Amino acid sequence: MYAIAVHGGAGALPAELVSSEKRARYVQGLSLAVDAGYAILEAGGSSLDAVAAAVRVLEDDPLFNAGCGAALTREGWAELDAAIMDGKEQRAGAVASVRHVRNPVDLARRVMEKSRHVLLVGAGAEEFALEEGLPLVANTYFRTEERRFQLAAAQKGREVSELMPDARGSRGVEGASSSGPAPIGSQGTVGAVALDGRGNLAAATSTGGLTNKRQGRVGDSPIIGAGTYAKNGVCAVSATGHGESFIRAVAAHHIACAVEYRHLTLEAAVRELIHSRIPALGGSGGVIAVGPSGEVVMDFNTQGMFRAARSSSGWRQVAISASAETETRSA
Ligand code: ASP
Repeated sequence: MYAIAVHGGAGALPAELVSSEKRARYVQGLSLAVDAGYAILEAGGSSLDAVAAAVRVLEDDPLFNAGCGAALTREGWAELDAAIMDGKEQRAGAVASVRHVRNPVDLARRVMEKSRHVLLVGAGAEEFALEEGLPLVANTYFRTEERRFQLAAAQKGREVSELMPDARGSRGVEGASSSGPAPIGSQGTVGAVALDGRGNLAAATSTGGLTNKRQGRVGDSPIIGAGTYAKNGVCAVSATGHGESFIRAVAAHHIACAVEYRHLTLEAAVRELIHSRIPALGGSGGVIAVGPSGEVVMDFNTQGMFRAARSSSGWRQVAISASAETETRSA
């Protein structure tokens, strides 16, 4: 038995997504990613290779908030985070706040396989990428027209900047405005989880983070146990959503613990996190997870989540909204 699931972020579904042309582009991107990972599993490859390949496809697709097409900081930079974890030996690698690494998931994997560390950030991570000969690009490579537009729209919603003194002469609260918090948020973080034919689980996640984020802000995606986690015999998890809530919930590890120690089914463990624990912290989002028997769970508390999955039982699904729009099941 082998299986793979991918996500391309969770959130509100903008009206234009209902338009069939844009929807078709998302479906195509998700399909390419899930099929790239599945082809590796089908050929007897490892879950680690499968999740890395699937995430790489989504990083290269400008529609998604990872790699090319990443969400932008409030100064207009793309700052990327990624992680990968091998459930067999529980090895992990992650990078955060990198600005020039074309495929951050590949650098995360090098950190796991070629360094003594788990998480490298900023300049140190990029120096390591250089030493490893990974492709480096100008930051403009990541910044699409659409992300610039989203940043401008988010910043228009800000009435009081953090740097402006408030009425009492003290520093304003970040994001504070008379009409509530400034709109920050994004969509399109990407991730993959897989089980291979040898029973090994793996997870990977990659993101540009939240639109209009502060420089140096790191979300849940590269934090092992928060946005990404894998342990053989238990589950592999990749999350998307409001990263601060997922970090505080230690979300991915919370799911694994619920399965391992409380003996919840993977579905029940994911449900508890997504529909109870994350909302209790004021957050929203979704996760994809796969268990040791190839069971795939994809759940979210937002309007939609870009997602796709495929298993050796012949099941294949690509979906965006709450219902599974395209599903095939062969005997
Ligand atoms: N979880 C990501 C972060 O907070 C964002 C997302 O999934 O959209 O960086």
